[in-house]
Amino acid sequence: MTPDALKALIRTVPDFPEPGIQFRDITTLIGHSQGLSASIDHLAAKAREAGAQKIAGMEARGFIFGAAVAANLGLGFVPIRKPGKLPIETIGIDYALEYGTDRLEMDPQAVAAGEKVVIIDDLIATGGTALAAAELLRMTGAVVDRALFVIDLPDLGGAEKLRGAKVAVEALMHFEGE
Ligand code: AMP
Repeated sequence: MTPDALKALIRTVPDFPEPGIQFRDITTLIGHSQGLSASIDHLAAKAREAGAQKIAGMEARGFIFGAAVAANLGLGFVPIRKPGKLPIETIGIDYALEYGTDRLEMDPQAVAAGEKVVIIDDLIATGGTALAAAELLRMTGAVVDRALFVIDLPDLGGAEKLRGAKVAVEALMHFEGE
């Protein structure tokens, strides 16, 4: 399936989780047998081309795409988790949200110094989550210069923000607006 055909499988839900937000729902994409596998094939091709040695994905929807891409390429997967989920001593990073802050954590042993890690998530909006993930991975000595998404919302400036941190962004599709 082409990226345009995949885009047609995204369900847009207005005013979720709050008024004014157009929620781009991947449930309909991953529920479609070819939609899921074609998305993984496209992302895996980009990750291979980027020279990925490991794939990292953010909880929760980044796990769906990231883990499948890692398996497709025969690479390990690094879960970037919400706080308090890992049963070991973690490293973490706090990052700003529109209101308040959030935190991501990972196993400091999950990546070897110098290993090239490609980040995968379902969607990039402001880029705050992906930038925090990149900084967290870099704390372990990982080389992070590429992040892949199913969906980019370019008007929110996330891809630009990541480029400013020397992380190139690629996505399978774009939606205008928020
Ligand atoms: P951000 O940190 O602003 O780039 O937000 C990225 C995260 O929030 C992603 O993991 C998305 O799953 C989720 N997200 C943000 N905006 C939307 C949206 N309009 N539709 C669906 N998910 C969204």
